[in-house]
Amino acid sequence: MNVIFMKGASLLLPKRPSNMLAFLTASHALLYKPSRRPPAVPLTTAPRSVPKMQTTKATPKRTLSTHPKIKPDGTIHHLKANITPSPQPSHPQATTHPPPPFEPPLDKHGKVMLKDMTLPEMERWVEEILGQKRFRARQLWQWLYKPERLAISFDEMSDLSKSFRLLLKEHARITVLGLNSIHQSKDGTRKLTFRLDAGGVIETVLIPAEGRTTLCVSSQWGCALNCQFCLTGRTGFKRSLTTGEIVEQLVHSMRLFGDQSQITNVVFMGEGEPAHNLDNVLRAVDAMTHEQGLQMSPRKVTVSTSGLIPEIRRFAEESKANLAVSLHATNDELRSWLMPINRKYGLQPLMQTLREVFPRRRGQQRKVMFQYVMLKDVNDSLEDAKQLLRLTAGVPCKINLIQFNWHEGSEFEGSSEETMESFQRYLSGKGMTVTIRRSRGDDEMMACGQLGTLGALQPPRMKVPPRYAQAVSRTGSTA
Ligand code: SF4
Repeated sequence: MNVIFMKGASLLLPKRPSNMLAFLTASHALLYKPSRRPPAVPLTTAPRSVPKMQTTKATPKRTLSTHPKIKPDGTIHHLKANITPSPQPSHPQATTHPPPPFEPPLDKHGKVMLKDMTLPEMERWVEEILGQKRFRARQLWQWLYKPERLAISFDEMSDLSKSFRLLLKEHARITVLGLNSIHQSKDGTRKLTFRLDAGGVIETVLIPAEGRTTLCVSSQWGCALNCQFCLTGRTGFKRSLTTGEIVEQLVHSMRLFGDQSQITNVVFMGEGEPAHNLDNVLRAVDAMTHEQGLQMSPRKVTVSTSGLIPEIRRFAEESKANLAVSLHATNDELRSWLMPINRKYGLQPLMQTLREVFPRRRGQQRKVMFQYVMLKDVNDSLEDAKQLLRLTAGVPCKINLIQFNWHEGSEFEGSSEETMESFQRYLSGKGMTVTIRRSRGDDEMMACGQLGTLGALQPPRMKVPPRYAQAVSRTGSTA
C-alpha cells in the first residue's frame, strides 16, 4: 500500500496497477463532484465539537407599512421601475397605519413660511391642517408666484374668501427677505441687497443685456469653499439659504423691475456653492419653473457648482435645469490651489462623472457649461487651452471664459483682452463653443466673484505652488 496526498487528504493506493485507474477516478469524483465534495476544512483551529458561532443577525420581521421603500398603499417608493406589488393579503398595519402628519416649515414666531413649501406640501397644509379645500392651495400658490400677481400681502388675494385670508394672516407668512438697498453700475447692472430674518445681508445681481435679462441669485450667505480668486470665498461661510429666501430673490426682482425688463434667465452664481445646499436649490428651481407659478423655462435656469460629484449625479437625475461647472484650471496642482475642493474631487473623477451623467447623444440638448476665469500667467497659456480641449473631450459642453474681476486683497491679475481672444480662437478653431463673459457691474463690486463683504475673520490663503509664485507675487502676498 502506497500513501499519496491529494487536496490535503491522504489516500491509500492499491498495489496492483490495473486497479489504479479505477481507484483514481473514484477518488477524483469523491473530491471534486460538488454533491460529494467533503466539507471544507475550516481554517480555524477550533475543535469540531465547538458549536459554530452565529455570524448573521436574525432579520427583524418587517411589515409593509414599516419598510422604508414601501408606502402604506403597497406601492414601492423611489424605485426607478414603477413596480407595484401584486395585492397583498390585507395586513392590519398596512391598511390602518396613517401617513405621518404633515409638519409645515415654521419661522421663530410659529408662522408657516409659505415659500418654503412645494405645491403638494402646500396642498397638504391647506387640507390637513387648515381644514380647507385642496384647490385653495393652488389659488394661494398662484397669488404668490404668477408673474402678474407676485403678492406680498394676503389683502391682495382678492379671489380668496375673507375667512380663508384671515386664517392665512393668522398662521402664515409670505415674505422672508427685506429689501435693503439697490445699487446701479454705469453699465446698467443692478445689485440688490436683502436683509435676512435673523440678521445678515445677501446680494443678488440683475444683469440686462441685449435680448435678455439675467438674475444672478445667491444660494448661501457667504461660502465655505475658499476659492482663492473669489471675494465671497474670502468672506467665509455664514449659512445656507432656505427655499423661500432663494425664490424670493427672483420674486422681489420681478416685482421691482418686471415692467422695465423681463427676467429671462436665472443663474445660481451669486454667493455660495449651490451643491452645498442642494435640497433647497432644487426646491427653489421647482418653484421658479412651475407651470402654475413663475413659469421660467428650465433651460433658462443654470445651477453652478465647483464640482461636488455626488451632488452633480443627483442634480442630473432630479433637475432639468442647466449645469455649469467651475473648472478654472486644467491640472490638479493648479486647481487644488485655486479651488481647494479639488483635493476632494479631483479633475479626472469629475470629468469621468460628467461623461457618465451627460452622455453624448445625437441631438443631445443638455450641455455642461464649463466656467474658466482667466488669470494672467496662471491659466491662460496656449498649453492651458490645449489641455482644456483634452480634458473636456467626451463631455457635451460649451466653455465660458470669464474676465477676472479684481477685489480688495486679491493676489491675481486678469488676462488681457488679446490673450482671452486668442484662447477663445484656439478652442473655437477646434470646434468648441466658446463665449467670453465680460465684466458687468465691476465698478460697483457686483461682477462675478465680487459679492460679499470682507470681515475681520477670513479663511486661510492656500499655499501657492512654486511654479505660479511669480504670477501672484507682483500683485499680492504669496501666503
Ligand atoms: S467661486 Fe463660488 S464656490 Fe468658489 S468661493 Fe466663490 S461663491 Fe464659493
